Amino acid sequence: RVGSEHALSSARKPITDNTQRGWWLTKANQPLPSRYSSYIYQKRWVKLDADYLRYFDSEKDTYSKRFIPVTSIVRVASIGDQKFEVITNNRTFAFRAESDADRNEWMRTLQQMVDERKFKGLNRISLFQPPTSALDSVDKCGLLELRGFKNKLYVVVAGDKVFLYKNAEDYRQGIGITYIEMNVGNVKDVDRRGFDLTTPYRIFSFSADSDQEKDEWVEAMQQSITEALSNSEVAERIWLVEANRFCADCGSPKPDWASINLCVVICKRCAGEHRGLGPSITKVRSLKMDRKVWTEELIELFCQVGNCVANQFWAANVPPSEAIHVASGSQERRRFLIAKYKEGKYRRYHPLFGNQEELNKALCATVTTSDLAETQSLVFCGAEVSCFSGDPDFPNPIALAEQAGQKLQMEFLLHNKNSEIPQVEAGSSEEKHYSVILPSVTHNGFLHKTPSMAKLVHERKSREEFSRRWCTLNDSIFSYYENDRNAVPNGEIKMEEIVCLVNNPPDTHGFESTFEVYIESERLYLFGLDNPEAIRKWVKSIAKSFIHPRADELLSYDFERIGRLQYKGGLNLERAKEGWFALAQSVLYAFFEDSDKEEAVHLKKLQELCIPGCCFPAKRLWGLVSLPRTLYIQGERKLDFLGWVAAIQKAAGSSGDTLSEQQLTESDIPVIVDRCIDYITQCGLTSEGIYRKSGQNSKTTSLLEMLRKDARRVRLKEGEHHVDDVSNTLKRFFRDLGDGLFTKEFCQDWLKAAAVENEEEKVSQYRHLLSSLPVVNRATVKALINHLYRVQYFSEMNQMNTHNLAIVFGPTLFQTDGKDYKAGRVVEDLISRYVVIFSVDEQEMRKQQDEIQAIIKMRIAGSSSGTQQAGDFICTVYLEEKKTEAEQHIKIPATMTAEELTFEILDRRKIETKEKEYWSCFEVNEREEAERPLHYSEKVLPILHGLGTDSYLVVKKQLSMENMLIYLASRVSDSKHGMMKFREERNVLGLGLSTGFHDRYFILNNSCLRLYKEVRSHRPEKEWPVKNLKVYLGIKKKLRPPSCWGFTVFYENEKHEKQQWYLCCDTQMELREWFASFLYVQNGGNVWPSESSKVRASRTQQDSRLGNISLIPLRGNENEMRNSVAAFAADPLTVSDNQSALGFTVQGAASHWLVASRLLGGWVWDKIPMHEIRRRELGGVGECC
Ligand SMILES: [Zn+2]
Repeated sequence: RVGSEHALSSARKPITDNTQRGWWLTKANQPLPSRYSSYIYQKRWVKLDADYLRYFDSEKDTYSKRFIPVTSIVRVASIGDQKFEVITNNRTFAFRAESDADRNEWMRTLQQMVDERKFKGLNRISLFQPPTSALDSVDKCGLLELRGFKNKLYVVVAGDKVFLYKNAEDYRQGIGITYIEMNVGNVKDVDRRGFDLTTPYRIFSFSADSDQEKDEWVEAMQQSITEALSNSEVAERIWLVEANRFCADCGSPKPDWASINLCVVICKRCAGEHRGLGPSITKVRSLKMDRKVWTEELIELFCQVGNCVANQFWAANVPPSEAIHVASGSQERRRFLIAKYKEGKYRRYHPLFGNQEELNKALCATVTTSDLAETQSLVFCGAEVSCFSGDPDFPNPIALAEQAGQKLQMEFLLHNKNSEIPQVEAGSSEEKHYSVILPSVTHNGFLHKTPSMAKLVHERKSREEFSRRWCTLNDSIFSYYENDRNAVPNGEIKMEEIVCLVNNPPDTHGFESTFEVYIESERLYLFGLDNPEAIRKWVKSIAKSFIHPRADELLSYDFERIGRLQYKGGLNLERAKEGWFALAQSVLYAFFEDSDKEEAVHLKKLQELCIPGCCFPAKRLWGLVSLPRTLYIQGERKLDFLGWVAAIQKAAGSSGDTLSEQQLTESDIPVIVDRCIDYITQCGLTSEGIYRKSGQNSKTTSLLEMLRKDARRVRLKEGEHHVDDVSNTLKRFFRDLGDGLFTKEFCQDWLKAAAVENEEEKVSQYRHLLSSLPVVNRATVKALINHLYRVQYFSEMNQMNTHNLAIVFGPTLFQTDGKDYKAGRVVEDLISRYVVIFSVDEQEMRKQQDEIQAIIKMRIAGSSSGTQQAGDFICTVYLEEKKTEAEQHIKIPATMTAEELTFEILDRRKIETKEKEYWSCFEVNEREEAERPLHYSEKVLPILHGLGTDSYLVVKKQLSMENMLIYLASRVSDSKHGMMKFREERNVLGLGLSTGFHDRYFILNNSCLRLYKEVRSHRPEKEWPVKNLKVYLGIKKKLRPPSCWGFTVFYENEKHEKQQWYLCCDTQMELREWFASFLYVQNGGNVWPSESSKVRASRTQQDSRLGNISLIPLRGNENEMRNSVAAFAADPLTVSDNQSALGFTVQGAASHWLVASRLLGGWVWDKIPMHEIRRRELGGVGECC
């Protein structure tokens, strides 16, 4: 220190000469040229301070022409004639002083500093480290243009300074031009690539290579200014202690961070790694920025303990090979810090280590003295900071220290109240799901709190049941204290224990706002305050500190309940996973384990909600069925789980008497309306006086009540419910509707529109009004009018024409007493101009007509079975191909599977199925010219709902099933790989961008399909989960697929984003194998029902004849295929008994199977149906040609 002061005092001594060059430099270790003395010197102003030797053009200059870090000076040597040289590792600089005395003083000062550095260096910094590492925290570096310089400079932003170097080589050697202290800096954008760094002395005009580069530079420099301006008062005081001037862990100079519980001062890089250890091990704070934590006591503690005392304990036994230094990488640092602080590997063990009782006793004794080193040793060897002292007046060490007036002891204990004691084996084994570091949120204030409870709070808690507590949230621990002067909390909640947080509706309890915290051990805490804003802040702060950072988007919702739950969903139902959920109004937002995007489940639109106790009485498992997936939520704990169940049930039910508060269908129609309309459509269209007759009042009342309670669970059945009761229920529902169907706001406008004379004008007004309705109202109006439109279609039978319906529905929908004739007019207009007002297109119209026809046919055929269920869907299914003669109208109950549908159709057509006939139901997409056989267990109804207008269902034989089954049974591995031609459907700005078909390598394993650019590629270019793929056979001809053996694949991710692409195989066999593999993976290996299938068993007729299924068509166009099929069919081949199959192979690209069979004396190629081969033995394979 004396040395540096001395250096500063001599710093203003100029070295002068009147000749041309005042300095000379050569490369390091190179002897100076003999002509050296003849060189001329130039007068420079030279400054020496603790860090740098710098020279300037004049004494007025702020920015040097050159700086040489003192650390890089190896030695100083006299070279006669008032001259001396400064020798660094790589270069030598020559100076000439005004006199020998002056020269000697310079040399002495410099040498003294170098010696001092060397002495420190041996202790602190390994000698072989590169000089650049002195800049321990480089934030940004690179080349920049600077106005006034010919070449680009190498610029380095580090800490609170910006350094300029001539080039990167100079930077590596540590020899720079100048540096700018950023506390006086200001950064300004100039143009796209240029920016100015302004200081009171000079403006540096930089220009970057790109605008992005520029932004990064500007940001880095602004950051540097912030750092320079941060308060260094605390740092200066702590640095007064020599040991605190170098990082306790790596020895970097000027460390401006600290761990306040370990009492060590550390550098920025080590601080980053400390933070990764979590606050229970080390609490990281900045000396310069976290001003509030630095109390007098804490600063004093750092001066008394600090790096010196801390390292005597923590670093008592560090093997040199494990130590880190300034230049260590972050992994090395991490490893060292874990060993040092988490495992306590290098610590000095206390003699009482392992003896808990003695440790505690010793701690109680020590805290009353000033021996902080002993306290440190005891605490980090296992003494319990909150142990009982035996004295009820001063029950723990903190109280004892307070009583003894040992403020520093108290300070140390308070920061280590929740510290984890180092354990060598800690970590790996205990890393459950909480290896994650929760964000550290700090919040405090007064709250009113009840005692914790083990049951849900159903009754209102009065104000008297709460007590006022000072609460703090700090380092992932919520503590509550008797008052804000108490140092010892009454209790604590660790953030990682919290499983659920509930924000109660206002005035649930005696306080205006209350919230509940549920913890893992089945306790619940209730807090309240009359200040909603303060409660909101608490809820946000707590939520933020216990929600997994991955799911923190959930925090953006105005949630009433948030937390973690076990769930099962998707394909894998075996293992429950952990998800994060937030309930906000009627939407349940979820972050699932396997995806990093949230999903929203609209609870009012659930298809089904199974409540525990009804579906899963034994386990606490609970299903939410919503398209496209079923989600099961599993309760791990009773308390928070019951809370979730009640809340979700409530949110999924009707919450009021307006339309949008009802349970809704996927298409935003209240389930109540949908159920009634469906029922009348199925059973009441031909019923005389439908909607006019009033039905029985009591039945209507009870039905409406049932539907209002939970419409989703009500099934209307013919025979059980009379159509007039149901129609009356629907009317009553509309009449009692809170805001009315047309809303109070627009009701009068509708009535006014009805009076408009000009027809066109009137329709346009209706259309406009319709578009201003809320979504649910609009959808409901359309559904209802569509329904009435059908009802009037049957007016000959039911006597309800448009006018009659309008008389009934006008007053109902407009909730008038029937005196305003205009209400009826509106309804009449809507029905009679249905097609125009609702923009119904021809196709939709035709579909409706078809359905009506089907209903009539069914009514006529007599629904004698009496087992009809309302809510079933009537659709047209074709047999074998799409033509009128082949159409079948069939009712699809929600439970119907593809297999049941197939047999239903075959039954109706009296088609007998034979063995080896693989009848299946196909979904045909006409637009894509592709088709997909439904899996036999697939439910048909959701598929029907998803079908576009150019799709239909057809039942036909699946010709390649036999071969696919054989392939699956005989293949060696479950995965499939090979080349296919791939084409993507790209959409750039709405223009279909065709990319053509390209060879790609694919691997399909049991969960995903991977695409590789080439066989040798290491990394897949794309990857899709198979469960999200829909694979169709066929590719539309317009795309010119390279062969006719192709697939069209639709991909939809969890966010419902869709992609579509095409795969093409060279041979049909390949196609079949790939398709079989897809089916196999998607259906968990279950591709075709076993013979014992219930449906099949009751229907299958045994056929002893040899199978007559044709072989798969050969490659070629459709006609060729037909011909080949026909040829095979006409030529059933049999294998006579004296022939024995030896093996088989596939020849070339052709897809028919050739079997080599041995006849007397020679080889003959023959064609044999595959199933025949299976019947005989496949033994001897391998001898094939
Ligand atoms: Zn460090």
